[in-house]
Amino acid sequence: MISEWVTTPDALQDFVKEVKFAAENIYLGSETLVPTEKGCQWCKAKPTCPAIRNKVLTDFETVVPETAEPDDLARVMENASLIEAWIKSIRAEVERRLMAGTPVAGYKLVQGKRGNRQWGNPEDAEAALKAMRVKHDQMYDYKLASPTSIAKLVKAEEIGPRQWKKIQELITQSEGSPSVAPESDKRPALNSSADDSDFDKI
Ligand code: SF4
Repeated sequence: MISEWVTTPDALQDFVKEVKFAAENIYLGSETLVPTEKGCQWCKAKPTCPAIRNKVLTDFETVVPETAEPDDLARVMENASLIEAWIKSIRAEVERRLMAGTPVAGYKLVQGKRGNRQWGNPEDAEAALKAMRVKHDQMYDYKLASPTSIAKLVKAEEIGPRQWKKIQELITQSEGSPSVAPESDKRPALNSSADDSDFDKI
């Protein structure tokens, strides 16, 4: 997909001045780099940026997950996306160097897992299997349409509301597994406290 952006030469010159000013201030030490998940998202300097490296590595030496204080865990959680983004940029940089023929000690490029087998031309395959007299039910895979596909038939009014009501009784849906979310998440918090009444006396 091609992205387009319309600007004017003056706006572009202003942007150049702004970036130059910021870069000079960073270089002279009068401004500091402040890594954030959003701010660093597209930055190509991630693998070499000292600020992001310091931010993500500081806790590696001091925080042990199993014994960490809640405040330490919360701080690292806040940085989790940034840490993941940094690791991702390291992986991408290693791949880029290996692709360019630059060695990275301990790593090499290998062929990835092959894709699923598929018919080059399904019509030719079908004709060949028929010519070989392969049985019909061995040639084709049939399976029941999913509830989601059937719900589309309801929308298309091919299944009526009364039928749909009966069909819905046949549908099950598993609960989502608990997952960690920030306090600001709009879903209600799960109560996960356990006490000894949850266990049978043995
Ligand atoms: S990675 Fe470093 S240089 Fe890039 S935006 Fe983040 S703080 Fe700035």
